[in-house]
This record gives sequence, structure tokens and C-alpha cells, in this order.
Amino acid sequence: MKRTVTIVMYHYVRDLERSRFPAIKGLSIERFLRQLDFIQARYTPIAVEQLLEALSDPEKQLPPNAILLTFDDGYSDHFATVFPILEARGMRGCFFPPAQAILEHKVLDVNKIHFVLAAVPRAGVLLNQVLSSLDEFRSDYPLKTTEAYLAAGTEKHRYDTPEVTTLKRLLQRELPEAVRTQIVQRLFAEHVTADEAAFACELYMSLDQIACLRRHGMHIGSHGFSHAWLDRLSPQAQAVEIDRSLEFLRKLGVAEHEWTMCYPYGGFNDSLLQLLRTRKCRLGFSVQPRIADLDVDDRLTLPRIDTNDLPS
Ligand SMILES: [Zn+2]
Repeated sequence: MKRTVTIVMYHYVRDLERSRFPAIKGLSIERFLRQLDFIQARYTPIAVEQLLEALSDPEKQLPPNAILLTFDDGYSDHFATVFPILEARGMRGCFFPPAQAILEHKVLDVNKIHFVLAAVPRAGVLLNQVLSSLDEFRSDYPLKTTEAYLAAGTEKHRYDTPEVTTLKRLLQRELPEAVRTQIVQRLFAEHVTADEAAFACELYMSLDQIACLRRHGMHIGSHGFSHAWLDRLSPQAQAVEIDRSLEFLRKLGVAEHEWTMCYPYGGFNDSLLQLLRTRKCRLGFSVQPRIADLDVDDRLTLPRIDTNDLPS
């Protein structure tokens, strides 16, 4: 029985060299095209519907070397670059736009960090800037010592230098949220742009573009409302995030019985899974890097590999 599927995740896919931020960690168009050639030679691309059919019928097989392509974060790259290429090849993808970024023209903190890092080549300079700004917040927030923040970082990252890993750890997770948000905003305004809304309009797809993807057979799913780490929220806050993202999907014409979830940062926990079951979520995509086996994996926590795990 063939019931395994390789689910691949993509983020930025753009003409990096000719873009304003060539240092953004993304996939160039050339590498994307090469990867699709590789995929079409070795794999059988499938659409979400085939996955759902196989999940509802244990006797149903998937094609040999089934592969499903997923695109996170609603970047305009996905409309301008990915969509015409997939469409020309008769391939279908799944797209997961973060609702608030699209609706309110806000740049996600995680994206602000990417562009600050791309704009400032020396991450050590940024790290010092962040560490020296902590003192301003000490009277209002229970912060650790600078040494404690630095000492906590011993983990190695696959793609990042130690300075970048530490910066991301502090600014994405470790500092209290209100402190992180203010520091990230300050760095973004200083090093990238003071006009966040204009930047958001360039960075993300519009509602109309996402609706257009859908009309052309692409799958649109939830990536939360504010792109929060959902596993760190209370069950009540999780419900608000999910329900606001479902309202966004309804605006796009996505039917309630076909909604899927892609966890921001891959974060989920038991209370979230319970909520998704009551909301009748069909599929959930995590970031555990391995091939999915429909007879073993829970449909709400399907693993996904990164584009960097395939040749390109
Ligand atoms: Zn994301």
C-alpha cells in the first residue's frame, strides 16, 4: 500500500539577486524551477483533495512518490512568481496566508526580523544594539541579565550563524512579547522602512490575489490570525486566533468543510488540536521534517520537509 506523501514547505521564492534585499534567505527563481524539474522527474505532485480522499478511505492508495507543495506566509512572491510557474506546469499548491498581515497591512514580526537581518550585514552589531536596549525595559518588565540571555543560547541552527540564532531566539521567543515587539519595530523602522503599511502591501498578497489563486485551483488554508506561536496561548486565545482566521477564509470563499491549518512556527499543543477537531479542521501541517505516512500520522499534525531538504 502506498500511503506516504512528501509535503514540502516554501517561504520566499523570488528573484533574489535583482531584489532590494538580496540577502533575504529565500529560494531564487532558478533554484525553484530546478527543484520543480527534479520533483516532476521523481515524484507525483498531488493536490489536497487527493490527500483528503486517501485519509477518508484506508483502502485508497496515493500515487508513487506522492508530493504536496505548500507555501507559507502569503508573500506576493507566491502570486507573482510561484503561481504562474505552477499553473504552466499543471501543478497545484497550498497557500497559507496570515490573516492580519493581509487585512491590516501589518508586517509580521518574524518578517521584520528577516528584513532587518538582510539590511544589516553584521548581525553582531544588531545583537549588541538589542542587548544594550534591554536596560530601558528593566524597570517595567522582569528581564534576565544580559549574561543569562547569552548563556541560554547553545543550540546550533542548520542555516544561521550563532549571532543570528541568538538574535532570533531573543526576538522571536525569549524576551517578553511587549519588549520583543518594541525592539523589533525600532530596528525595522531604523534599518528597513518607517512606512510599515506600504512595505506590507509589497510583501504580501492582496485578498484579490489570494482569491484569484483559489479560482485557479490552488488551496488556501489558515495560518492563524496574527501568526502567533499558538502552543503558547491560552485555549481562549487560541479560539480567537482560529476563529478570526476562519472568518478570513470565509471572505475568500473557502467552505467550512474544506479548511486546513498550517501552524505558525509549527507550534501546536493538545488544547489547540482539540479546538481544531471541534471546528472540523480537515488537515494540519507541522514542521517536523520527515515524510508523512497516512497510516501512522495524525491528520492534524502532518510532517513537512523544507525546500532545502530537496535538491535544487
Ligand atoms: Zn509562517
